[in-house]
Amino acid sequence: REGERIAKVIARAGICSRRDAERLIEEGKVSVNGKVLSSPAFNVTPRDRVTVDGEALPQFEPTRLWRYHKPAGLVTTAKDPEGRPTVFEHLPPDMPRVVSVGRLDINTEGLLLLTNDGELARLLELPATGWTRRYRVRAWGDITEADLDKLKDGIEVEGVRYGPVEASLDKVQGSNVWLTVGLKEGKNREVKRVLGALGLTVNRLIRLSFGPFQIGDLLEGEVKQVPNRVLMDQL
Ligand code: URA
Repeated sequence: REGERIAKVIARAGICSRRDAERLIEEGKVSVNGKVLSSPAFNVTPRDRVTVDGEALPQFEPTRLWRYHKPAGLVTTAKDPEGRPTVFEHLPPDMPRVVSVGRLDINTEGLLLLTNDGELARLLELPATGWTRRYRVRAWGDITEADLDKLKDGIEVEGVRYGPVEASLDKVQGSNVWLTVGLKEGKNREVKRVLGALGLTVNRLIRLSFGPFQIGDLLEGEVKQVPNRVLMDQL
């Protein structure tokens, strides 16, 4: 089981010494996720709910959130069956264990949020959070503002219903167009599919923001923690 020895975690929370914590466990006074623990040989992570004598342990590792500028060419998965390089292998070595808030396709660049709190990651991914994901998109093909307006009411592509998409034309560059696209859900390959339905082929996709968090001036591959006060204001 991943995590840290439970007695150490209890001791660090200031409840008692590590040895006393082991004794409490042996006396059946410590539970993890509602189950009484019988041996101190047990690891816990911040996601586990630990109670000592019926009292919940304060969360032992505060939730942290980072902004990461994902370069193209990395997959957003812990381990790729095809052995392609992953985002997680490319993070700075001093980063704690993190999960991503949703995923970006291998060739998508830009803002990816990372957190040490799996619960938070799942919450932020939900469409119910109502956060807009904004992208700068380069696509091959022709399009008019009027065509893009058709995405405002949502669109169905190959049997999948996509919610409202805000898309505007920024410029034409040779046989490509540059667009800004905003949507409020993160369905698989959503930008490529909804623009594909209008005859456009996306060939560059850069995420600029996710809810209140912006890519800003983060350099490719760079990670910056969101200050906790800022994070707390958003949750
Ligand atoms: N939409 C896509 O098609 N790909 C991404 O990576 C993100 C949004």
